[in-house]
Amino acid sequence: MAISSNLGYPRIGQNRQLKFALEQYWQKKTDILSLKNTASQIREENWLTQKQQNITHIPSNDFSLYDQVLDTTALLGAIPKRFKQAKLYDFGFVTHDCYFAMARGFDQSQHQDCNCATGTAMQMTKWFDTNYHYIVPEFEKDMTFELGSNKPIDEFKQAKALGIHTRPVLLGPISYLLLGNVTDTNTTPLDYLDKILPIYQQVLNELQSAGATWIQIDEPILSKNLNPQELNSLEKTYAQLSKNCPKLKILIATYFSGLDQNLNAVLSLPIQGLHIDTVTDPNWKRAVAHFPEHLHLSLGLVNGRNIWKTSLKSELDKINYTKNKIDNDKLIIAPSCSLLHSPVDLKGEKNLNPEIKSWLAFAKQKLIEITTLTNLANQNNPQLPPCDNIFPQRHQSNKIHKPQVQQQLADITPLMYQRQNPFDVRIKKQIENLNLPLLPTTTIGSFPQTPEIRKTRAQYKKKIIDDKTYQTFIRKTIQDNIKKQEKIGLDVLVHGEPERNDMVEFFSENLEGFIATQNGWVQSYGSRCVKPPIIYGDIQRKKPMTVELAKFAQSCTDKPVKAMLTGPVTILQWSFVRDDQSRKTTCTQIALAIRDEVTQLQDAGIKIIQIDEPALREGLPIKTSQHDHYFQWAVDCFKLATSSVDDATQIHTHMCYSEFDTMIQPIANLDPDVISIESSRAKMTLLDTFANFKYPNQIGPGIYDIHSPQIPAIDSIIDLLQRACYVLKPQQLWVNPDCGLKTRTWQEVLPSLENMTAAAKQLAQQLQNTLNLNSHR
Ligand code: GLN
Ligand code: ZN
Repeated sequence: MAISSNLGYPRIGQNRQLKFALEQYWQKKTDILSLKNTASQIREENWLTQKQQNITHIPSNDFSLYDQVLDTTALLGAIPKRFKQAKLYDFGFVTHDCYFAMARGFDQSQHQDCNCATGTAMQMTKWFDTNYHYIVPEFEKDMTFELGSNKPIDEFKQAKALGIHTRPVLLGPISYLLLGNVTDTNTTPLDYLDKILPIYQQVLNELQSAGATWIQIDEPILSKNLNPQELNSLEKTYAQLSKNCPKLKILIATYFSGLDQNLNAVLSLPIQGLHIDTVTDPNWKRAVAHFPEHLHLSLGLVNGRNIWKTSLKSELDKINYTKNKIDNDKLIIAPSCSLLHSPVDLKGEKNLNPEIKSWLAFAKQKLIEITTLTNLANQNNPQLPPCDNIFPQRHQSNKIHKPQVQQQLADITPLMYQRQNPFDVRIKKQIENLNLPLLPTTTIGSFPQTPEIRKTRAQYKKKIIDDKTYQTFIRKTIQDNIKKQEKIGLDVLVHGEPERNDMVEFFSENLEGFIATQNGWVQSYGSRCVKPPIIYGDIQRKKPMTVELAKFAQSCTDKPVKAMLTGPVTILQWSFVRDDQSRKTTCTQIALAIRDEVTQLQDAGIKIIQIDEPALREGLPIKTSQHDHYFQWAVDCFKLATSSVDDATQIHTHMCYSEFDTMIQPIANLDPDVISIESSRAKMTLLDTFANFKYPNQIGPGIYDIHSPQIPAIDSIIDLLQRACYVLKPQQLWVNPDCGLKTRTWQEVLPSLENMTAAAKQLAQQLQNTLNLNSHR
């Protein structure tokens, strides 16, 4: 008999209980007991839900107070020195204080009773190609490791006490190490393997003694192609782990992409089960074809990362193929990956359009699909349940397919991807059109979202205030923003985005083809959750979205106002996307909608338009072999969105990160007239990339870190700008902060921007003098 299984369940709770409990605890409004209680309740609810849905292999230790990678750091006692201080340990175990300090940093003022120094938080980064973020392990020279937590065993026992026999989940040693950084560049993460393996062994032993029969070891790093040395370490690891615990069966879980070159090595490991993700791996059949007889196959069928109902018919085809090769007793039916990445329960959606709702499945509904598929796998003559009929209906629904949009797609011509002339021609016309000084100053778009703005927007959404009152308020705010910027002396002004809560939500509410959920939260990191909009159908711009307010802002000043849009790739990346067409096609539809907006902004007299693409890099596929293809269509979509304007209209873009070395060519291919980027934290060193590459267009390297409350001093800004001048021509440079200012207060923003403009003016004066001198020689 095939059995049903799950790899992980959302841990935030149906109503984001974990988020609120964490924040209360951090604000010292509650104590650790109350946080532990909430956590314990969520775990129990999750287990019971999975049991009710007849899942046989139910995971434990998939829960986390913050992040599963950080949990592994605590488990292995891989605590960086700056946190290894008095009072951060308790009976040899990592305390909650230490755990949260690693995630969020701490400063000594909060720890008066101990002699610890200030500890900067450990780095956080994206978990593969998802929107989840993990805490990056740090391996220090001479680091010692020891069992630092009992979490996997405690949680196994907690479930056992409820009568639920779980399959504990651990992050595997190879993934854990390769996801980390070494602080001593003479070492590599795998040098620490011998130190952590004994601890893994200890944990497996204890789980076996506690009665565990299967253990799931996640090795998502296998979705990347490993080199021979890494594959060696993999073999060594599992040879060692499988030795000591004869009663414990090991299932390695791989997901997010196919095993490709790693396949043979993985299939010959001395383990008892292997999970493969058939959703992201077009070659999954190859794994099945070569599958050794003794191994259990966990077949990842239900997409753990989207919100769509699974087509049982397509998955049954996969099951039938597999049953021809694999003994049914060795078959485990599973989601493609942990359900962590999908919202909790569709039941929470009271206001969704019923037709669209009938197409959706959140985590809880996905459990039902897993069980249904398992039952089908166990029937000789399986009959599809009638609920699978929604697929023909969905595929024909006129909610999804809009002939007009299809026509627009068909009408795209190559010329639509190109500005009229190359940059060197355009820039001359822009200089005439804009009349800007050397080192022009500007900001990235948003200004502080004051409590008043947030309150008023919330009242408007709840219909407590009417449209007119709200619009008046927004215009008043914009007028104030413009006045403040004029007073500061900025050269290119912005309206400040007071009408926008979030850079994708605003556009998704104004475009057709998107729908918002009420409660479709997914964990992004720690207590932070996001509620991505759902793209269910062809995307269409029915009306201008930003034009009126941009026009209004421009009417308040003689200086140029830069209009703000979110780019197509970022909108795509931060939404749940359709599963019935390629990401490329969906992105092209968004690009066409943004293109119309761009044209209309220009027609309304706006001379500078910024199209933000902070998520361009995030969209990179896991396999490097697919990067070129991604960049091709992503860059095309940006160009399609931005190329309708005249030469004299200046296109800006913004990206909030600094790792450009591997993507400088695609960035240049975007061909924006101006790009603003993050660079203050790295003290402008990243500009080397732009200099070596001879980046031709203009660039605004962020001259101060908006994530910090510190006011940048004039001298330090001049210093950074001078560094930038070593590698770029002064005529190429813009002066701006490194990101939007919406999370800051005016108290911080005003003096910071005043210093920024003062620094730009001083340096521009000096540079102008030198330029004049040179031109007289
Ligand atoms: N224009 C947006 C803002 O200023 C850009 C935000 C971002 O880059 N994440 O807030
Ligand atoms: Zn940014």
